[in-house]
Amino acid sequence: MKKMILRNDRVEGGKTIRFLTFDKPDSAANTFDAATLEALEAELEAVETDPAVHAVIFTSAKEHIFIAGADLGLLAKGGSSPEMLETYLRKGQELFNRIAGLTVPTVAAIHGACVGGGYELALACDWRVATDDSHTRIGLPETKLGILPAWGGSTRLPRLVGVPRALDLILGGKTPPARRALRLGLVDEVVPREWLERAALRRVSQGKRRQPGAIKRLFTRAVGAAAARQARPGLEKKTRGHYPAVLKALEVVAHGADEREVYPSLQRERAAVAELISLPESRNLFHVYLLTERARKLARGAEGRTEAAAVIGAGVMGAGIAQWLSAKGVRVLLRDVDAERVGAGMGRIRKLYEEAVRRHALTRQQAREGLDLISPAGFAARPARIPLIIEAATEQLALKRQIFEALDAEADEGALLATNTSALPVGELAQVARRHVGRVVGFHFFNPVHRMPLVELVIPEGTTPEARAEALHWVQRIGKLPVVVADRPGFLVNRVLLPYLLEAARAFAEGLSATEVDEAMLAFGMPMGPLRLADEVGLDVALHVAQTLAAAYPERMQIPPLLPKLVEAGLLGRKVGRGFYLHTGAKGPNPEAEALRGEVGTVPTVGGTRSRMVFRMLDEAARCLEEGVVEAPEDVDFGMVMGTGFPPFRGGPLRHADALGVARVVEEMLALNLKPCSRLCEMAAKGDRFYEDTE
Ligand code: NAD
Repeated sequence: MKKMILRNDRVEGGKTIRFLTFDKPDSAANTFDAATLEALEAELEAVETDPAVHAVIFTSAKEHIFIAGADLGLLAKGGSSPEMLETYLRKGQELFNRIAGLTVPTVAAIHGACVGGGYELALACDWRVATDDSHTRIGLPETKLGILPAWGGSTRLPRLVGVPRALDLILGGKTPPARRALRLGLVDEVVPREWLERAALRRVSQGKRRQPGAIKRLFTRAVGAAAARQARPGLEKKTRGHYPAVLKALEVVAHGADEREVYPSLQRERAAVAELISLPESRNLFHVYLLTERARKLARGAEGRTEAAAVIGAGVMGAGIAQWLSAKGVRVLLRDVDAERVGAGMGRIRKLYEEAVRRHALTRQQAREGLDLISPAGFAARPARIPLIIEAATEQLALKRQIFEALDAEADEGALLATNTSALPVGELAQVARRHVGRVVGFHFFNPVHRMPLVELVIPEGTTPEARAEALHWVQRIGKLPVVVADRPGFLVNRVLLPYLLEAARAFAEGLSATEVDEAMLAFGMPMGPLRLADEVGLDVALHVAQTLAAAYPERMQIPPLLPKLVEAGLLGRKVGRGFYLHTGAKGPNPEAEALRGEVGTVPTVGGTRSRMVFRMLDEAARCLEEGVVEAPEDVDFGMVMGTGFPPFRGGPLRHADALGVARVVEEMLALNLKPCSRLCEMAAKGDRFYEDTE
């Protein structure tokens, strides 16, 4: 049988150093499945009983991963059996306690993702050294899955970096890149990959790490207790009771730092996970995690050339896309109508790189290398020998058709042509591409490109399977997550979002304040209220998308007359400082916008408005499934959580419909004078659900 952990002894200065290299067979990742835990136990026993071993260095043979953490499949099953969960948690804790208890120096030599259980193993070691590679990320993301670090992470991290920093990392579920991890004290040293082993050996020569003295411990406790007391009210307000794992983690971390012994805190870690794992919020967060994995796997096996791309249009999106591609090592040709616009685009790109350096997402060197990969080009520069061309020019169909006609003539025959249109029919652009039949797709990135993980991959009719596979490969290659959608107006995300935004605008027009409308959805769990979102997007841009969709779905997407009035009055949102809100000076709701609505009649209730906004999203989501815009409920939910921030703890609109019960959704929609789609009505009649596991 192939080994999970490879053992290698090296003699340095007459002393035996044991390298334990995690290498799960036939897998790109190392995880703590049952076999790996067993192998680790055997290795620890060997170290404990062999006096010749002078030190242990834990490392990984994988290209991009140190250890990705617990086996989540196992954890998911554990949720249904408390005994199994307790056994699994205990096992990990015991093994890591044994590492912490070894009398010889221990080092985690980290290259690639070192997260969750992987970092908890590292925390049990004396020293942690990491590579500065972009794949190296370090941290404890468990609260994002609705649980908390329970293999000693909630107990050991506060002892290492202090309670305030540990809380920030654990409650935020953060996994910072290596250099930021170093600044936070999560690791002791960051080195280039080729120096990792040397750095680990140097740490061995420093011996066991000294434990903090009594005074430092006392100080840690006092600061810890104060930090936890201070954090609680803010967290309660921020999470609005929707993220129980975060509050639980606060409790466990604060409590744990207050004790000398780790054991009571480890016990609290286990009890907390047992309590959290079966809550609907945790199950839904877990569901979102599985959807993310599902999206990652979509591109599996796909191939294609990905060394270079051209971006046409150097505006907000074109610059964002070019920067992202170049940061991922892709050579980029950037084109616009004249040198001035290309120059402005390069200015935006430079700013994005500077910001990435400030956030420690990239080093100065990486930013310089990325920037060097971009060639600002004149309008006529021919995209020769470039396998992908992404058009991100102004949103006008006639203009985009012209651009595609020209690209069709200029580009290599084997190139993939893509558009970043928000709502225009990709098929109409495909029609003009005579040399690239079946090779025109939509790559719908979201704004800001560097922050939004989703790309809607629009596949018009007639796309060849090869082009589809190449497109998926590209999305994966640049580290984004795809949702594959059909070429229907608004695709998936904007189509589901728009009726919700229109409903919000209508409620405002009928007399609710912007704050009341937005507050209703913040309480539901959206990261931003709909009217504030409209201000961020720009009311003119939102109106333009609305007009396109209103033409396609006139029954459901009627535009409240107030919206064009606001645009005419120049209230375009944040970019001009005024929209539904004021963005400069006094801030708060904009009285000008309120004045434009004139006399209002009966003002709708906040509760009724919230129901209408939510149900309009659920209904449109079901329609997308009904019309085959996407293939499965999972696609809808993934797209909406990643593309709009639909509350992850609700698992997506269709999962939320299941939670409410489809029959209740239909009944309440009818009571609110909304017309549910036939799919929802049929499901309600039969008592069907979108998911099997939501019973
Ligand atoms: P923008 O106005 O900031 O940039 C458009 C750029 O295209 C301008 O620099 C313009 O000079 C250039 N351009 C116009 N004609 C051109 C031509 N013939 N050749 C080359 N360049 C040309 O617009 P944006 O917000 O970056 O939007 C670009 C595209 O992305 C649109 O299709 C839009 O719908 C889509 N989009 C926008 C967002 C968003 O939030 N802004 C989000 C997703 C998708």
